[in-house]
Amino acid sequence: MTEREALETVVEISHKMYERHMVTTYEGNFSIKNHDRIYITPTSFCKGNLTTDKIVILDLEGARISTGLKQSSEYLLHLDLYRLRPDITAVLHDHSPFATAYALCRKPIQTRSYFEPIILFDKIPVCNYGITGSEAIFKDIVNYANASDIFLLANHGLVSIHADPFKAFYQAEAAEAIAKTLTIAHLLGGEHPLNQSDINELYHLRSKLTGRSEIEI
Ligand SMILES: [Zn+2]
Repeated sequence: MTEREALETVVEISHKMYERHMVTTYEGNFSIKNHDRIYITPTSFCKGNLTTDKIVILDLEGARISTGLKQSSEYLLHLDLYRLRPDITAVLHDHSPFATAYALCRKPIQTRSYFEPIILFDKIPVCNYGITGSEAIFKDIVNYANASDIFLLANHGLVSIHADPFKAFYQAEAAEAIAKTLTIAHLLGGEHPLNQSDINELYHLRSKLTGRSEIEI
């Protein structure tokens, strides 16, 4: 990927996140790692109005290379995830309302009634609480980042990581839709769970389609 392509991809995905109400001006961020550079959204700037000249460029230690706007205050989370998972090229962090509600309740996004989340994610686990921008946020994250490409930060929001920047976005988009559907199902009186043999079949399908089994965390 060229620098121009990296900048354009950050802008395109930031616009999509904003349009889908996954981020606001003050919440959420997105970055791409390309060669030895990180391209990240700036702090306190509307993601719906971002242009390539507003994207902040960092080196892998977090030193700012670009002039102009300052990087998201949560950039340390991104740097840490790139260190923990050398295979990924994108980190998406959002405060999408339904997924974030699960994070506030410290409940994993998980179901025994709905085939799509079982096949896609098994479950979206909740990482222990750490205050934003602090080292404490990283204490527990290593276990989750190695077990799953998507997880919740307790009392905070959602993180989606991937080798493909667009797939990091699609995962987060799917998680929000699933969290919304499950919330409505709970309001309607609760899910009707599938029987164990149907669930086993879905896990078999998950393993066939994604190469992954159950998330053990
Ligand atoms: Zn956040």
